[in-house]
Amino acid sequence: MADWIPAQVIANRHWNNNLFSLSLAANIEPFKAGQFTKLGLEIDGQMVQRAYSFVNPPQQPTIDIYATRVQDGLLSPRLHQLAEGDTVLISARANGFFTLDEVPQGDHLWLLATGTAIGPYLSILQQGDVWHRFRKVVLVHAVRFAADLSYQAEITQLKQQYGDQLIVQPFVSREPSTLCLTGRIPQALEDGQLERHVGLTLDPVQSQIMLCGNPEMVKETKSVLEDRGFAKNLRRKPGQITMEHYW
Ligand SMILES: Cc1cc2nc3c(=O)[nH]c(=O)nc-3n(C[C@H](O)[C@H](O)[C@H](O)COP(=O)(O)OP(=O)(O)OC[C@H]3O[C@@H](n4cnc5c(N)ncnc54)[C@H](O)[C@@H]3O)c2cc1C
Repeated sequence: MADWIPAQVIANRHWNNNLFSLSLAANIEPFKAGQFTKLGLEIDGQMVQRAYSFVNPPQQPTIDIYATRVQDGLLSPRLHQLAEGDTVLISARANGFFTLDEVPQGDHLWLLATGTAIGPYLSILQQGDVWHRFRKVVLVHAVRFAADLSYQAEITQLKQQYGDQLIVQPFVSREPSTLCLTGRIPQALEDGQLERHVGLTLDPVQSQIMLCGNPEMVKETKSVLEDRGFAKNLRRKPGQITMEHYW
C-alpha cells in the first residue's frame, strides 16, 4: 500500500497538446535516479493511482514528472489539467529497480527510450554517477513527431557538460526529420543503422543496455539483442539488458 502524502503543483508545463511535465513540491523520502513514484487522485469517489518515473535527479528538491495524456485514459487526462496551486497525492516512498546500481559494469551504456520514458534517463544522467562508470553513454529517444522531443534544453546542457562522452540519437517515426533517424529502434538495430549512425558497435562484452517505455519496443529490441548474444540482466545471473515497461 502506498503511503500517500499531498504534493503541491508548482507548474504544469504543456510541451504540446498531449505531453506535459508536472513540477511538484512534496516531502518525499530519498529515491534513486531511475526509480518511479505513484500519483493518485480521487475520481468519482475512487482513488486512482498510476506509476510515474522521476525526471529530476535525487539531489534536486522539486519533483519533475513527464507524462502523456492518454486518449481515454483514466488518470493522465486529469493530471494534464492540473494547475499551479492544485494538490495531487504522491507516494512518499519511491519504487523500482531500473537504477544504475542494478546495471553491471561495462564500457558503453546505451539508454533506449520511447516517448515519456526518457524521464528516468534524464534523472540518471543528471544524478552524475554514470559519468564515472561508463566511458560512453548513448541516449536514444524514439518519438512519433519531432515536436515530441521534449527536454532539449536539459539534453543540450548535458552535451555541453560531458561532450563526446554523451552521444544523443533521436528517432522520429511518423515524419521525415533532418537531425533524427526515421523509423523504429528495433529495426535500426537489426539492420545496423543505429550503430553506424552513432559510430559505436554493440557487443556483449563492453555494452550495457537499458530499455524503457513502450512494451513492444522493449520486447522487440530485447529479441534483436538476444539474437546477437545479449542476455537479460538478472540479479542472480547478470546480463546486459535491463528493462522497464510503462504498460
Ligand atoms: C514503472 C512505470 C513507470 C511509468 N512512468 C511513466 C512516466 O514517467 N510517464 C508516463 O506518461 N507514464 C508512465 N507510466 C505509465 C502510467 O503509469 C500510466 O499507465 C499512464 O499515465 C496512463 O494512465 P491512465 O490512467 O491515463 O490510462 P489507463 O486508463 O490506465 O490506460 C492505460 C493505457 O495507456 C497507454 N499508456 C500508458 N502509459 C503510456 C505512455 N507513457 N505513453 C503512451 N501510452 C501510454 C497504454 O495503451 C495503456 O494500455 C509508467 C508506468 C510504469 C509501470
